[in-house]
Amino acid sequence: MTIPSPSVVLSYEDAATVVSGHAERVRLWLRPTEKVPLLSAAGRVLAEPVLADRDQPPFARSTRDGFACRAAELRAGRLKVAGQLRAGQAWTGGEIRTGEAIEIMTGAVVPPGADCVVMIEHVSVSECWISLAPARELVPGENVVNRGTEARAGDVLVPVGRRIGATEVAAAAFSGNATLAVFSKPRVAILATGDELVEVGDVPLQYQIRNSNSYSLATQATAAGADPRIFPIVPDDPVATERAVGEALQCDLLLMTGGVSMGKFDCVERALLARGADFFFTGARIQPGKPVVFGKLRGPYFFGLPGNPVSTIVTFLLFGAPMLRALAGESESGPHFGSARLSHEVQVRPGLTRFLPARVESDLRGARIRRIAWQGSGDLTAAAQANSFLVVPEASDRLADGDIVSALML
Ligand code: AMP
Ligand code: MG
Repeated sequence: MTIPSPSVVLSYEDAATVVSGHAERVRLWLRPTEKVPLLSAAGRVLAEPVLADRDQPPFARSTRDGFACRAAELRAGRLKVAGQLRAGQAWTGGEIRTGEAIEIMTGAVVPPGADCVVMIEHVSVSECWISLAPARELVPGENVVNRGTEARAGDVLVPVGRRIGATEVAAAAFSGNATLAVFSKPRVAILATGDELVEVGDVPLQYQIRNSNSYSLATQATAAGADPRIFPIVPDDPVATERAVGEALQCDLLLMTGGVSMGKFDCVERALLARGADFFFTGARIQPGKPVVFGKLRGPYFFGLPGNPVSTIVTFLLFGAPMLRALAGESESGPHFGSARLSHEVQVRPGLTRFLPARVESDLRGARIRRIAWQGSGDLTAAAQANSFLVVPEASDRLADGDIVSALML
């Protein structure tokens, strides 16, 4: 168990593959679950499948206001309207008779014998007779969804491992689940290191800065479905760092920031090593975030994220979030990339995959992306205006105005 030597610096793709390999493993772990009220389940990860409690639809359902009838009969001549069916009303009249139609509302039971519903807009009604309006077609099956064609009783409507959003809540509600089983949230320990750091409520001296990373990470970890705990700031001191790591070992994921570069007082990797860490990589050819470290202690996985605030945010999005969502039991946990049309040319030196602060704006026609000027990975002012990071692949030195490009979405 050592820091890989020489240090293991991977391409973005290889580093992502290493992380997703470990994410695959932790997805197989048994993890605690809890039952929560339906609305509290939103944003959590489903631990037991939502099953259809009956066929869907539970009866042949009319999807239009109109008349239930036999298509061939109405095409051949007029039909007598012999009754009416509203949504929520049981049909007790048996099979509809030859030469007859039943007036029907959206969501009502299509009576047996009828093979279609003709829309009210497609017939002419005179007294109690209907006939097909000129030039209108009518075929069997029109405007009827037959029982069980959407789902059969017992079918899985929402699988285990799915993050619960509005459609999943709706499926749970219509199949009768007032509560849902979800996975317990993974516990994330957040440790910011750096002698220059003071807490957000403190007044920094001129040469000090406020700790922002603990707060951006806690926000991102919460969004990824975790329960974050911010630990006190750790000074750049090997003994203090090792002690702080020891205090965080009960968590499921340890996120450290700062102290992973080549500086004389960067002691995070050594402290992790002293605590028995395995290192999977100690850097990635990315900007921002090159010194990112990933490994596992006896107990939690950990990331050593570079301290520059934009690096911390980007490396969490790229590597931390996929691992954390897997620890939360989510089955699809990769980073969220979108694509957009570039609004201007971008030139860079090749050799690193770049994630440049950017703004994506989208409408019906698609998405456009433009860079936000920045002073580098310490520039939180630029990052605060971004909603995404424009991806420049490692081999590219130039993206052209109008290119379709990838964006890492915040
Ligand atoms: P490091 O990764 O420790 O070399 O730090 C890189 C840069 O990020 C330095 O300018 C630090 O002052 C800054 N930095 C480190 N930790 C934090 C933090 N928790 N919040 C804000 N900035 C930080
Ligand atoms: Mg530092």
